[in-house]
Amino acid sequence: MVRHDPFFMPQRPTLWSALLLMLGLTACIPQPSDRHLARPRPALQPDSAMMRQCTADLTAQGARYRVLPDYRNDSGCSAINAVALSAAGASIANLGATRCPLASAFVRWVKGPVQQAAQDVYRARVARVVTMGSYSCRQVRGVARASLSEHAFANAIDVSGFVLTNGRTVTVATGWTGAAEDEDFLRRIRKAACQRFQTVLSPDYNVAHRDHLHLDLGRGPYCR
Ligand SMILES: [Zn+2]
Repeated sequence: MVRHDPFFMPQRPTLWSALLLMLGLTACIPQPSDRHLARPRPALQPDSAMMRQCTADLTAQGARYRVLPDYRNDSGCSAINAVALSAAGASIANLGATRCPLASAFVRWVKGPVQQAAQDVYRARVARVVTMGSYSCRQVRGVARASLSEHAFANAIDVSGFVLTNGRTVTVATGWTGAAEDEDFLRRIRKAACQRFQTVLSPDYNVAHRDHLHLDLGRGPYCR
């Protein structure tokens, strides 16, 4: 007969296993200073005047994009005032629906400090920015009873790597703790991102971000 009394000695290895599992899980749960990530956010509304200004800015920046129809679903997710961005000096892979103000900030980040860091560190230009997308109808990862992620509002971009004009590929997964120049490049662009986006999360934040930089224009500022 199996005893289920948790204080019964033979069960203790199971208790320890559960405790160790919980300790492991806390790595994915935001620390007290990260609580802003789990607060509800205000609804986003269509704003035609803002869109006119924002798309004019994208055009002036030389970005390639198309405006997407406003989208909402029953789960509370939405892509309002969104564009599909495909190039900003460099080609941009896998992005999908992105709120225009975020796309604009992203274009300026890529064309400015990202290209500058590539020039300084590698003596090359970024030819392609590889992303893991923007819009995704889901909650904040790794947080119990979390609110919807900024990705659920097309208000966050995950960047996984870069292809340079000299053929070199730099990825967050292997470069964050890797070749010295990759470490240098990735930290330079994170620092610049923290000056332009509200929340920036890197592999320094938690294991869920080991392979990408998360950039959003939600609540913040938060930079790690
Ligand atoms: Zn993200």
